[in-house]
Amino acid sequence: MYDIGIIGGGTAGMTAAIYGQRAGKQTVIIEGSTFGGQITSSPNVENYPGIASVSGSEFSMNLLDQATKLGAETVMEQVTGIREEGKIKVIETAGKEYPCRSVILATGVTHRHLGVPNEERLTGAGVSYCATCDGMFFRGKDVAVVGGGSTALQDAEFLANYCNKVYLIHRRDEFRGEDSIVKRLEGKENVEFLLSMTVKEIIGDAMVEGMILNNKKTGEESGLEVSGVFIAVGQIPQNEIFADTVKLDGSGFILAAEDCVTSHPGIFAAGDCRTKEVRQLTTAAADGAVAALAACKYIAE
Ligand code: NAP
Repeated sequence: MYDIGIIGGGTAGMTAAIYGQRAGKQTVIIEGSTFGGQITSSPNVENYPGIASVSGSEFSMNLLDQATKLGAETVMEQVTGIREEGKIKVIETAGKEYPCRSVILATGVTHRHLGVPNEERLTGAGVSYCATCDGMFFRGKDVAVVGGGSTALQDAEFLANYCNKVYLIHRRDEFRGEDSIVKRLEGKENVEFLLSMTVKEIIGDAMVEGMILNNKKTGEESGLEVSGVFIAVGQIPQNEIFADTVKLDGSGFILAAEDCVTSHPGIFAAGDCRTKEVRQLTTAAADGAVAALAACKYIAE
């Protein structure tokens, strides 16, 4: 029996484990793919207080190390659901069960797709959602990054180190991401902004060969020859399996306020998977702490 079962091993989940263990509770973190979550694909994190610069993967490894040294157990399995047995919440995975006194949902978010022709077919053949994972394959080539948030800006900056040319395609005239990165990109000779542009189609037979773009202001269509398309247009939650357990909002985020309390007693939500305005590393970590302490209080009561 665990005191706190944590579903999701990103920043929120691992912070919850650190706080839970330090409060004397036995925690288990159940993660379906990568410990560290989405920040592992960030080449450089520069806005976490107290750490001027660190790679996303090093940040994640440090968190995991800290949590496990405190005694948190880790499991690499896909959660399929949660059922209630009296006051016990049983987390179910394919073939295993984890009885817990309380549960923290820290499932994060997954990559949003553009939904344009050939995107799915050419994924892995020039279309990628992770510049840090796949960027090296495009050394010396021309590539495009789609999106205007911090991820797209960071991806463009990272790819500019290897690629011959990086086109940054954004649907508006202004970027949503950090100004400081925009300024750095403006100073790079091999980066070109294509603003007020949307992607109509990705072209290629076996591999990506280019894209068709649409200028939102003039309505003109144009072709762009690139070997790689890095899509960074935000994230979507993945909470469908909990829809019968906790209330979700219209977009699929778990309804929970700053106290991380969900509609289900004893089940808390932390990090990007819950309804919130600001989705940052700092707010994910803050949620992890709040949810863990709330779970401790719930167990005590
Ligand atoms: P985001 O901030 O939600 O930005 C998504 C971008 O994609 C926006 O510019 C949006 O355009 C665009 N977009 C959305 N749907 C689109 C579509 N169908 N077609 C074309 N463009 C589309 O996502 P993110 O950049 O992944 O960042 C997510 C969160 O993580 C943010 O809070 C960000 O600050 C944070 N983050 C932090 C770090 C760090 O180093 N600490 C690094 C990366 C990300 P509009 O602007 O027009 O809506």
